[in-house]
Amino acid sequence: MSTPRSMLETGFDVEKVREDFPVLKQTIHAKPLVYLDSAATAQKPFVVIDAIRKFHEVDCANIHRGVHELSQRSTAAYEETRGKAKRFLNARSRSEVIFVRGTTEGINLVASTWGRQNVSKGDEIIISALEHHSNIVPWQMLCEEKDATLRVIPMNDRGELILEEYEKLLGPRTRLVAVGHVSNALGTINPVRAIVDMAHGVGALALIDGAQAAPHMKIDVGLLDADFYTFSGHKVFGPTGIGVLYGKAKLLDAMPPYQGGGDMIRTVTFEKTTYNEVPYKFEAGTPNIAGGIGMGAALDYVTNLGLDRIAAYEHELLVYGTQLLSRIPGLRMIGTAREKAAVLSFVIDGIHPHDIGTVLDRMGIAVRTGHHCAQPVMDWFRIPATTRASLAFYNTTSELDALADGLRKVKEVFG
Ligand code: PLP
Repeated sequence: MSTPRSMLETGFDVEKVREDFPVLKQTIHAKPLVYLDSAATAQKPFVVIDAIRKFHEVDCANIHRGVHELSQRSTAAYEETRGKAKRFLNARSRSEVIFVRGTTEGINLVASTWGRQNVSKGDEIIISALEHHSNIVPWQMLCEEKDATLRVIPMNDRGELILEEYEKLLGPRTRLVAVGHVSNALGTINPVRAIVDMAHGVGALALIDGAQAAPHMKIDVGLLDADFYTFSGHKVFGPTGIGVLYGKAKLLDAMPPYQGGGDMIRTVTFEKTTYNEVPYKFEAGTPNIAGGIGMGAALDYVTNLGLDRIAAYEHELLVYGTQLLSRIPGLRMIGTAREKAAVLSFVIDGIHPHDIGTVLDRMGIAVRTGHHCAQPVMDWFRIPATTRASLAFYNTTSELDALADGLRKVKEVFG
């Protein structure tokens, strides 16, 4: 099945973009690789690979502490990424950008510092039914420690949060609302601006897990008015082990440090330590310098491509893929929100997702199968797992055709 040209109106030059991603050029089991697992981790363009390589080949030194040339260079390159992340998120200042290992660490940092300081017995934290485990477990741990209560915004059959129910959960004991911007399991794009406003309405703070939003849409923390926003470098076409936590300066200033060690201090004696200024107060020890530099290259790359263009093209892919898959008998889409990012999560009657994934792999098609670190979402839909094809701007309609053909073969094998 070929793509009707009229369907792709954005004119996004996907073939040119694909040239930037060396990994996509290979064959798997003698078939061209069709990579549909970008929600787990996105592939890296040459500019990212080159930036990491250049750091190791030419500039490698520890940062912040050295007066020598290499240390000056690596410090400048690493800190440049902070400026890039500030612009990427439209934060007010570089000091609002904290480097972390990824979204998981960003959330844990807030739970361990702001949470320990501000949540007490009888307080409430609200999350949603759509969350990734990393936006559930840290809050559960905090609530257990503090004897606080975790409340959950329910969702409807489409996988959309029910805001009327959310409103009922808010109250004078609500301290924080933590929700994902985009669901990794379903693709739902949550109305985060409204969610943040409603939290602020009762004097609570709002944290947004942006792991699945940052690669796909323009983020403006000023417009969202989020108190905290976090994302992972590896999902935004950068390396693993690096990410960003944004926090409003006033909050970060008042928060205690996360970990103790080098770089996060101003002075140390055996009697007393004074802490460095924000953001360094939260960045103990030698960080992932190469990762930070690679993430900077990735942020430049997506910014140059244009996040609005990326979002428009991926929406075309989503519409195309949804139509294709809906023609497969016995296939049921899980997650049909009206506002949706390019995630196709589905089940097929009588065939286990792991079997689907294994057969597709033999055809060179990489999808993810399982609960996608969102077991409560699976429980809500009363299914153990889904097969998930998650798209990025380097995917094509012909790859979606290959997926649909592959699924027909899966049905033949197990039918
Ligand atoms: N939040 C969401 C919505 C995710 O999809 C993921 C990863 O899949 C995470 C958080 C955790 O990200 P990381 O493992 O990069 O910390």
